[in-house]
Amino acid sequence: MKSLRSQLLVSHILPLVILLPLLGLILLYVIETQVLLAGLTEDLARQATFLAELAAEQQDIFVNRDEGESFARETGAQSQRYVSLYGADGNEWVVVVEDDAPDAAEPSATELEALKVGRVQTRAVLSVDLAQTTAEAFAPVLNAQQRLIGIVRVTEHIDRVNARLTQIRLLILGSTLGALVLAVGLGTYLARRTSQRLERVTYAIGGLAHGEPISEATERMPIEFRAAFDAVGDLQTRLRESEETRKRLLANLVHELGRPLGALQAAIHALQQGADREPALREELLQGMDGQVERLKPLLDNLASLHGGLSSALTLHRAPTDLNTWLPQILVGWREAAEQKHLAWVEEIQPNLPPVNMDANRMAQVIGNLLSNAIKYTPEGSGKIRVLAERRDNEILIAIHDTGVGISQQDMEQIFDPFYRGQNARFPQGMGLGLAIAREIVDAHGGRLCAVSELGTGSRFEVFLGL
Ligand code: ADP
Repeated sequence: MKSLRSQLLVSHILPLVILLPLLGLILLYVIETQVLLAGLTEDLARQATFLAELAAEQQDIFVNRDEGESFARETGAQSQRYVSLYGADGNEWVVVVEDDAPDAAEPSATELEALKVGRVQTRAVLSVDLAQTTAEAFAPVLNAQQRLIGIVRVTEHIDRVNARLTQIRLLILGSTLGALVLAVGLGTYLARRTSQRLERVTYAIGGLAHGEPISEATERMPIEFRAAFDAVGDLQTRLRESEETRKRLLANLVHELGRPLGALQAAIHALQQGADREPALREELLQGMDGQVERLKPLLDNLASLHGGLSSALTLHRAPTDLNTWLPQILVGWREAAEQKHLAWVEEIQPNLPPVNMDANRMAQVIGNLLSNAIKYTPEGSGKIRVLAERRDNEILIAIHDTGVGISQQDMEQIFDPFYRGQNARFPQGMGLGLAIAREIVDAHGGRLCAVSELGTGSRFEVFLGL
């Protein structure tokens, strides 16, 4: 019983094996008692009444036993049934004793009482053995004063009376057996089919795990199996995505750490080989090293945010913030960075903006990531960065425009995915985390971060925060 198939077989077949014979027996009982026996006993009662009327005209048959016997034999021969006579006290008077005659049975006390008041009595003795199943009728023989002077009993074997009964029994037995065979066959077929389908699902799931496409057979599966299959499919897609994310993370990390580490190592070698003896050169190298370490900081910040933000629920420390003082403060550093790259810088901050309930540090990280990108992806000396802050109905919009390289339509769909870096190969891209983290933070504030861009013209990133 270890295999599912055998369990399915038992569950498909067992109830039928129990139910079908039971149904056959019930059917047999109903047909015999309600149809055949009822008809037979009625017939016997009619005949017994007729014989009782005949006996009432020949009352001697209850005085002279020989006459009684010839009456019983003659009427029995005529009707082809067993006729017996009983006294008014219910005792045997003339009983036909032949090999195949049914067992003699005297009327019971209650039957006798009913007979005394002129009522015909019938009974059926059911038995599994057809030869023993009998039906009989007792009819009272009354004299002119309506007093009981004797009883006529007509008995019949049910199988002799109705040969159809055997046929019916055989028919029911045969059809029960036939139904059983059919049920076992059908149950076996269904159990096999179910277990084969399960096997197919298992193989298909195995195939899916190895990247095989969904087969046509799987498409036709019942919905329950399909649901299991779809769930595994989703799981597999998520696994693949997370595997891709992991690969991108590693590739980006190697790329991002490689550059500053290479520069640091080169500077250290130069110092080891005597560059430290020239104060001006030493100063330049040390500043360069400092700059490289400085470049690693935002990388670490973003990685730390990734750990705390993208992997678990982001906790915000919100406070009402006055944008008119907060925004210029955080823009100072970025303005300097833009100027170093000889980019034009425009700030358009609407005066008297209402305070926004936000986590100022997290939001500074958002603006920082957007501005860092705007500066990074705008070619040196020929562009403009524009920061805009204004009220739009019940929201505050902070927008960052650049006139840089722009983003292709294809990249646009993925730039907010963690570790996704666009195809701007000629620009030194970062970890591909900045936008994912920015969107995460804006979402946590209940706001929206949108991007509009055209390749070669520039990009606009918009942060909407509710008031
Ligand atoms: P990265 O660290 O690579 O800049 P981001 O998540 O900040 O990662 O950005 C994802 C990608 O979106 C970038 O690799 C770049 O291709 C594109 N991108 C983001 N901002 C801009 C922008 N202002 N101009 C052009 N491309 C941008």
